[in-house]
Amino acid sequence: MCAEGTGPERGAASPSPDDPDFPAARAAAARGLTELDAALPGCRACPRLVAWREETARTRRAAFQDWTYWGKPVTGFGPADAALAIVGLAPAAHGGNRTGRAFTGDPSGDVLYAALHSLGLASRPVAEHRGDGLALRGVRITMPVHCAPPANRPTTAERDTCRPWLARELELLRPTLRAVVVLGAFGWQATFPVLAAAGWRVPRPRPPFGHAAEVPLHDPVADRRVRLFGCYHPSRRNVFTGRLTPAMLREVLGRAAEGAGLAPRP
Ligand code: SF4
Repeated sequence: MCAEGTGPERGAASPSPDDPDFPAARAAAARGLTELDAALPGCRACPRLVAWREETARTRRAAFQDWTYWGKPVTGFGPADAALAIVGLAPAAHGGNRTGRAFTGDPSGDVLYAALHSLGLASRPVAEHRGDGLALRGVRITMPVHCAPPANRPTTAERDTCRPWLARELELLRPTLRAVVVLGAFGWQATFPVLAAAGWRVPRPRPPFGHAAEVPLHDPVADRRVRLFGCYHPSRRNVFTGRLTPAMLREVLGRAAEGAGLAPRP
C-alpha cells in the first residue's frame, strides 16, 4: 500500500533502521517535515512494536480482511506550518496501523475529527483512509510513539526510543507553533521533555496532567509564548463512560485554536 524506505540516502556510518540510535540520527538529519515524514516509516528500532504492528497487519481484523494494512510507523498529519499541534498516544492497531494516517479509521478519530470539523479545522468530519480528501487547517496531529503497541500501552523505553521523531517534528514546527493540545496523561508526560529538547522553557516541577489544564511555555529564542493544554484522550472507553464528551473536547480544542490564532469557521 505504500513505498518502503522513502527517506534520503544514508551514509555508510548511519545506524540501520533496527538500531535504537536510528530515530535520533534520522530525525536530526531531516531538514523539513517532508523529509521527516519520508524517513519515519522506515524505522524498526523497537523490536516488540515492529513485531506487533506487522503481526496485526498480517492477521487483520475480520471486518478489514480486504484491507492491505499499513503496518509501519505512522507519521504526523497536517501542514508543515501548523499553529496548533495535537499530540496523542500511538496509532491504533486497526486504526492508524491499518490506514497509515493518524487517528484515521478508528473510534477515537471519529470523535476527534468531528470536533475539529465543527471548529472549521478539518475539511471533513470523518477520517476513513488516506485517500479520503481530508485536510487540516493550521493543525498537525502527531504522537509520541509512532507504532501501534499491544493493548495501546507502549513501554517507557519505547517512548524514549521514539522521542527524537516527535522532538524533531516540534522543532520544525517551532516557527509557527502557538498552541499544543496533549491527549491523555501518557502524552503529557512524554511531551514535556520533547518540548524542552525542542527549545521551549518548561516549568519545574512539571505541572500534573488534567483535563483543560493550561500551561504557558516560553520560547526564549523568538521570545514567544506557546500555550499547552491537557485534554482527556478521546479513547473509546473515555467517550463511552462519559469521562470525555464531544462538548468537552470541542471546548479545549476551541481554546487552543483561539490561542493559536486560528479563527473559528464563520
Ligand atoms: Fe521507530 Fe518509534 Fe516505531 Fe519505535 S515506536 S519502531 S522508534 S517509529
